[in-house]
Amino acid sequence: MNHRFACDCHNHSACSPDGRDAIEAMLQRAGELGLYAYTLTDHCECQKFEERYKARVENAWEKMGKAQPPQGLRFYRGIELGQPNQDTRAADRALEGRGYDFVIGSVHNIRDFEDFFFLDYAGAPEGTIDSLLASYWQELMEMIAWGDFDTLGHLTYPLRYIQGEHGIEVDLHKHGEAIDGVLSALIKAGKALEVNTSGLRQKIGRTLPDLPLLMRYRELGGKLVTLGSDAHCTEDLGKGIDEGIEVLKEAGFKEFALYEQRRPRMLPLE
Ligand SMILES: [Zn+2]
Ligand SMILES: [Zn+2]
Repeated sequence: MNHRFACDCHNHSACSPDGRDAIEAMLQRAGELGLYAYTLTDHCECQKFEERYKARVENAWEKMGKAQPPQGLRFYRGIELGQPNQDTRAADRALEGRGYDFVIGSVHNIRDFEDFFFLDYAGAPEGTIDSLLASYWQELMEMIAWGDFDTLGHLTYPLRYIQGEHGIEVDLHKHGEAIDGVLSALIKAGKALEVNTSGLRQKIGRTLPDLPLLMRYRELGGKLVTLGSDAHCTEDLGKGIDEGIEVLKEAGFKEFALYEQRRPRMLPLE
């Protein structure tokens, strides 16, 4: 890593349904990379908590507790809650009794729809994409109102698929007011905004959110930012973190947050 305090605080092990490698392998890789700190954040899709994720969450927590990080690596235990707003009771239960260091709040799908990954955008009638996005911002607002998370994961996630995979251009200016609403609510609630670097190795080719949105967040008074690769295998661990740090510097940030016991510790972007 090129930066002294490079941290990867969003990634998945085999404890996630779409993750590949065991926690031990992820930890070993994090150590090899020389990361300053490493936070594992396996999935919990809250609307499927009882039938699919309860046992996974328990398993991930137990395995993280037993894991032996390589010498010198700071290891933190996290979780990525998907759609906590759609089932806040399940979200509360996912966190209950487990002393996570870090909780990512994400929206991967809107109510009554599949994950944005699965939707068919090409055949959609005019206006569908704007209305999907409107629901996405709305659900983020609900998640912020619920509030038991530390950072908002991969803001603009739908664009990873709409623009990245399907090549459909979206004019975010139309959504400026809604996005400002999300960013302002986040700031007011004292939550962080994640720079998710997965987009840099995917077709969309930029961080989620990207530079203009990070600049806007800062302009509105946002100070707390976190960094994560969203790796689902050892090879992707730490990818794009150095670039993400440069994007943050370009947006005018001087420091970023590493969460320990749900509290931000500010580290310089160097
Ligand atoms: Zn996610
Ligand atoms: Zn993730």
